[in-house]
Amino acid sequence: MRAEIIAVGTELLLGQIANTNAQYLSQKLAEIGVGVYFHTVVGDNTARLLQTIQLASERSDLVIFTGGLGPTQDDLTKETVASHIGVGLETNQAAMEYIQSFFARRKMTMTENNRKQALVIEGSHVFPNDFGMAPGMAIQHAGSTYVLLPGPPSELYPMVETYVMPYLTGLLPEKQVFHSRVLRFYGIGESALEERLIDLIEKQDNPTIAPYAKEFEVTLRITARAQAVEEAEALILPVEEEIRNRLGQYVYGTGETSLHEVLVEELNRRGETIACAESCTGGAIASLITLVPGSSEVYRGGIVCYTNEVKHRFLDVPEAVLQTDGAVSEKTARLLAENVREKFQTTYGLSVTGVAGPESIEGKPVGLVYVAIAAEGKPTVVKELRLAGKRRAIVGRAAKFALFYALQMQKER
Ligand code: ATP
Ligand code: MG
Repeated sequence: MRAEIIAVGTELLLGQIANTNAQYLSQKLAEIGVGVYFHTVVGDNTARLLQTIQLASERSDLVIFTGGLGPTQDDLTKETVASHIGVGLETNQAAMEYIQSFFARRKMTMTENNRKQALVIEGSHVFPNDFGMAPGMAIQHAGSTYVLLPGPPSELYPMVETYVMPYLTGLLPEKQVFHSRVLRFYGIGESALEERLIDLIEKQDNPTIAPYAKEFEVTLRITARAQAVEEAEALILPVEEEIRNRLGQYVYGTGETSLHEVLVEELNRRGETIACAESCTGGAIASLITLVPGSSEVYRGGIVCYTNEVKHRFLDVPEAVLQTDGAVSEKTARLLAENVREKFQTTYGLSVTGVAGPESIEGKPVGLVYVAIAAEGKPTVVKELRLAGKRRAIVGRAAKFALFYALQMQKER
């Protein structure tokens, strides 16, 4: 099956938003083995949209549209697809009732143009919108399948997961499932990871192994195709085991998770607490931890100790240490971690001090960062890092390294 994706919206052409829906849909189609051959973006213009549909219908078996299903004048995707096929629109009763009850519940008057959202292409298969008003739809015509989906990702993603994927797999000639397992790594770069797995990556077939780097961490997706999920899992398991044998120390989680979520979860599970003294990360670690629900049980608080004076007055780093070793030093990092733990009476004390750039500090190079983790009943560990990148990247990486080392310390305790 040859597929293409058409994103409709002038705001995409103007560069006001990025076409993340196409990226997401391509990933979903890859999971079920459908090849995507074109991504097109077209503005909210009937003539140009018609031209685009015409071309797509000649070259693709599956054409997926996103955007332009809303109530306003510029939302014209379904009207235009219907006119290409040569059919009309009809009211979808379920969608109409949903829209009416939405306004009734809020005691708001429904404007006339909202009726438009309940219109679907005559004879189409309708996908309910559980997070918005305009339903999605699919219709087959002259050998092509057209799928129309709403623009807002918060509506599109759940619609695809719940309704569209089962519909699309039903179109495939052979019943196949594509099942993935995602391993999340920290403390190892993408190229180092690839090098350690190169023999597996080179001979990969089923399952496939795909590393990708994102937000300062590396993820590995192992995807198997099989008749059923259990069969796919059986194919994935030995490969995952081999990868863990080689790189298990860098794996911090699986699936949709993140370092801060895993850390908060583990702290909660073990009934432990943490406090942070953050110099160069300026609260970035606290911000990540407190994004996680349930963090109030484990995160007592912290100090952004940006200046030497604060390091000294609030965290008892002796002036002599700040003079001789400097703020960016092994000794300062160690004292910050131990003293913040002491002050907040927590299981762990985490500290970060470093040079985020662009200027060097104390004659120390940009990217030099010390992370220290003090734990009850364990010697304090200090790590020296040499991080690459601009200021934002250094701060982001330093925060994630700190979370990772906290997790490592936890494993050892
Ligand atoms: P609405 O009912 O909100 O009008 P719609 O189906 O008509 O939804 P659009 O009006 O085209 O969709 O887009 C609504 C919003 O959805 C956009 O402002 C944008 O935030 C988001 N969006 C639209 N298309 C895309 C896309 N291709 N990638 C990412 N986001 C998108
Ligand atoms: Mg719209």
